[in-house]
Amino acid sequence: MSDLPTTPINFEDTATAFAGKNNEELKNAYNLFRLMQHEHLVNIGGRFTELAFKIGLPISYPIRLTIFEQFCGGETVEECKKPVRKLSKHGVHTILDYGVEAKQDEEELDLIAVTLNRNLELAKEDPDINIVSSKITGLVRFDLLEKVSSDNELTVDEEKEWERAKARVYSVSKTASDCDIQIYYDAEESWIQPAIDEIVMSHAAIFNKEKPIIFNTIQLYRHDRLEYLKELHKTAKKEGYILAVKLVRGAYMEKERARAKRLGYDSPIQPDKEATDRDYNAGLTYCVEHMDTIAFCNATHNQESCGLLAEMVQVKSTPNDHPHIFSSQLFGMSDHLSFNMAAAGFNVAKYMPYGPVKEVIPYLIRRAKENTSVNGQVGRELNLLKAEMERRDLIEVSEEEE
Ligand SMILES: Cc1cc2nc3c(=O)[nH]c(=O)nc-3n(C[C@H](O)[C@H](O)[C@H](O)COP(=O)(O)OP(=O)(O)OC[C@H]3O[C@@H](n4cnc5c(N)ncnc54)[C@H](O)[C@@H]3O)c2cc1C
Repeated sequence: MSDLPTTPINFEDTATAFAGKNNEELKNAYNLFRLMQHEHLVNIGGRFTELAFKIGLPISYPIRLTIFEQFCGGETVEECKKPVRKLSKHGVHTILDYGVEAKQDEEELDLIAVTLNRNLELAKEDPDINIVSSKITGLVRFDLLEKVSSDNELTVDEEKEWERAKARVYSVSKTASDCDIQIYYDAEESWIQPAIDEIVMSHAAIFNKEKPIIFNTIQLYRHDRLEYLKELHKTAKKEGYILAVKLVRGAYMEKERARAKRLGYDSPIQPDKEATDRDYNAGLTYCVEHMDTIAFCNATHNQESCGLLAEMVQVKSTPNDHPHIFSSQLFGMSDHLSFNMAAAGFNVAKYMPYGPVKEVIPYLIRRAKENTSVNGQVGRELNLLKAEMERRDLIEVSEEEE
């Protein structure tokens, strides 16, 4: 048993959790999560999909109707409008996430910046989209970020490229500020994160003077990041701007550990899950305690952390919808957290990736892998979906199908 305080929100309320899904959608989600339980199927399916796209097999359509439908808003922003409105009917906002993966070519990086700027302009006109997210590797070449992070001297050409890259990200941050739309910059691998932090925090110092616009991401699965959060806060207070952060546990654990082992340095990752959970909740607590000068997003599928946030806000007698407090889950996952928190009056937004099917395949494969039976996520989703199917008297139908 956890010694965390009891939550004032009923996360088991499946009627609220799945209010946005009709019977058909509920059954589809249940069947998809049931399929994803099978790890070998997910592994084979993932490899087959990558190969099929490489050799040009026509598999976009079946993907579009199944896993894409569950985890993506659409192929274009226009298509996202329908799920955006559906979420909004239940008090859940949207974080628009252009789901293309890292690019190397400067022309492609420029195009992503153009798309982000256009999305920020669109969000300005759409009351249901108040946040846009981006990976810095969608705007700056990975190897350049790595070289800048390593403190190795850049060549003259690289220096020029770095200046162009910084200008590209600046144009996005400036548009966000002009449009009064928050932008969340993702955290990525630790060996490129120093360059990401440098760019993002320099923009926060410029654009967060009046209100939180530029959000950096803190990965609490790193053992040094709780201290870093506190350092950032100290600097922001000294320089007179609002610190804005998205708190996550972190997505690259295996890769981080493998690289550290291969290159023979100490892993930046916490020794175990308990340590990650402890620092995540400590980070959350720190943000709540300093919410007059910190705006934050509790970006997690962890129910205990969401319960802890709700409890702390209640104890502090802060309004649940304080503009400095947001929670976020990925589109298609953990609706029991998003919808029940929104019903309790909290600011909640779903991370909604969109893009051409082919471009979002790596994202979809990651979601499928995350939802295999290994880490238990799928078990929870399935049980909740099943409970709601039972509540709606639908369960016999799916059992007959087994
Ligand atoms: C809205 C949103 C935005 C996100 N943005 C980012 C981002 O910008 N950058 C990023 O890296 N990730 C991001 N993520 C992913 C996030 O970091 C986690 O991978 C994911 O959400 C699972 O963690 P959890 O907090 O939901 O909870 P849980 O499922 O309780 O925790 C799982 C996480 O705990 C950690 N963990 C698991 N086992 C161990 C272990 N043995 N030792 C140490 N730690 C362990 C890992 O970080 C793992 O992902 C985002 C997630 C969401 C919901």
